[in-house]
Amino acid sequence: MSALETEPGVSGALDTLHRVFGYDSFRGEQHEIVEHVISGGDALVLMPTGGGKSLCYQIPALVREGVGVVVSPLIALMQDQVDALRNVGVRAGFLNSTQDYAERNQVEADFVSGELDLLYLAPERLAVESTVRLLDRGKISLFAIDEAHCVAQWGHDFRPDYLMLSALHERWPDVPRIALTATATKATHAEIASRLNLDGARHFVASFDRPNIQYRIVGKNEPKRQLLELLTTEHKGDAGIIYCLSRNSVEKTAEFLVANGIPAVPYHAGLDKNVRARNQSRFLREDGLIVVATIAFGMGIDKPDVRFVAHLDLPKSVEGYYQETGRAGRDGHPSTAWLAYGLQDVVQQRKMIDTSEGDDAHRRRLGAHLNAMLALCETVECRRVQILGYFGQQGTPCGNCDTCLAPPEKWDGTIPAQKLLSTVVRLQNERRQKFGAGQIIDILLGKSTPKVTQHGHETLKVFGIGADLRDTEWRGVVRQLLAQGLLAVEGDYGSLVLTEGSAEVLGGKREVMLRREPERAAKAARTSRRAAPVDMPAELAPVFERLRAWRASAAKEQGVPAYVIFHDATLRQIATMRPKNLSDLGTVSGVGENKLAKYGRDILDTLEAE
Ligand code: ADP
Ligand code: ZN
Repeated sequence: MSALETEPGVSGALDTLHRVFGYDSFRGEQHEIVEHVISGGDALVLMPTGGGKSLCYQIPALVREGVGVVVSPLIALMQDQVDALRNVGVRAGFLNSTQDYAERNQVEADFVSGELDLLYLAPERLAVESTVRLLDRGKISLFAIDEAHCVAQWGHDFRPDYLMLSALHERWPDVPRIALTATATKATHAEIASRLNLDGARHFVASFDRPNIQYRIVGKNEPKRQLLELLTTEHKGDAGIIYCLSRNSVEKTAEFLVANGIPAVPYHAGLDKNVRARNQSRFLREDGLIVVATIAFGMGIDKPDVRFVAHLDLPKSVEGYYQETGRAGRDGHPSTAWLAYGLQDVVQQRKMIDTSEGDDAHRRRLGAHLNAMLALCETVECRRVQILGYFGQQGTPCGNCDTCLAPPEKWDGTIPAQKLLSTVVRLQNERRQKFGAGQIIDILLGKSTPKVTQHGHETLKVFGIGADLRDTEWRGVVRQLLAQGLLAVEGDYGSLVLTEGSAEVLGGKREVMLRREPERAAKAARTSRRAAPVDMPAELAPVFERLRAWRASAAKEQGVPAYVIFHDATLRQIATMRPKNLSDLGTVSGVGENKLAKYGRDILDTLEAE
């Protein structure tokens, strides 16, 4: 029996929450979910990142008899998850391919003899007959299926291994199952329920809003300079994640930041396994490090103090975007989700879809995902309302996104659209030619560039008919026509071609409404932010810093991330409250019995050492 265990049945959910995790109360639907699973019911839980999904299965696993088996694809994080649990006195272990024989043996023995509260497993383990036999030899309290969206083919990180999880119920019909995900469009939601055979399960759908995250989508002009400005003016010294589409741009961007004195490391699937593991581990353990990554990075990263997530390329879907940006601000403090997006992104992504493997249905799905993402980028409404709407939830204008803070104008772009489309038509009909956006815009602007004269394009009737707009404005028009499906791209050079919708615009049967970037959008958003940084009086800062220094050394000594010891929020509360004894310290949120026993004395000493 572990130190914290009491007689089965005596220790209820709330009591376990207080004693083990040191929290006062459940959040949102946590309590109902926990009670439901404790009583043996199946559950499907949709909750945003940072919503508190882990407790939904950890507490039932502690309260019910037996071992809670957690299926998770996040092998690289299992060690940290297990360390964090052990640090609060929970007996946790994992089985995955990173272990040697002796370690695995020990965990298996602990499982069989009931010496574990929680066992983490990679999904592919369950395909191995020996694992199934092992599970039969112990007592299982529940199955938790984390990152359950991996079972959905509609979604964006489908994992074939997840499909076999549907068999759990047949093999262990009496063991309750709880599936959890932070990704939930209606389609994904339905697919999880059906593929996991969760017929009788209760569905718990939390609000997907993340009010502390400020959403901003800006036009991409000089991405590196724009990024540098964001980092130096708003996020100095902050930890953050920067996503790029290609490995090459990941490396270039990381080098660029380091050259500018900003600590950053690259992360992508092409890097050596050890380098990757080291960079991830540094990101989790160090304060204020930036990781520049492809989407291979971050699933399940539970670092609570990621202050910003920046995208230098357009994500492929709203689901992906929301999950990636959701890694910011798990601790509930103000954070930024910033995306730079331009014409080239649309061209590139359409091309990737056209040349992607798979059948037409697959390409249509990718196209639908992209269209939803583009609609979010081009909206003149509140970004948050649009995102929540995508997940089937309602919202009101939030006051904490770029379109709320600096509303873009809507303007009637029908005439410019007609000018542009007719240029494409003329090239096609009169010259049998196709060109990319650059050439078309030069023609509209009446620029006699070498390429224009070489093709004799200055003799076209449309030459110079668009001089009333600037180059960047034209790029905005092209981008938005592409986004609205009124124009398409084709071939390796991104040639512009007409769609069915183009004809309606040309024929005057369809209006084209466009978004005009407010010049001062970024500035307006910026000044509003950080107006209320974390609320702690200045005179408490030295105490807080002392506590942080103590935490850093304790984390180093134990070889765990700092947040596994205590979150910033907990240290802040300790600094504010200045407890004089252990029982006062024990009332601080995040200080449970085990941590109080382990660190209490050190904290009181640190507070007294002035
Ligand atoms: P998710 O898995 O949904 O992204 P986590 O389970 O990692 O979220 O929880 C996010 C953070 O919120 C964690 O730091 C966790 O300790 C904290 N948390 C969760 N539930 C509570 C609660 N009831 N009271 C206080 N903190 C909580
Ligand atoms: Zn808004």
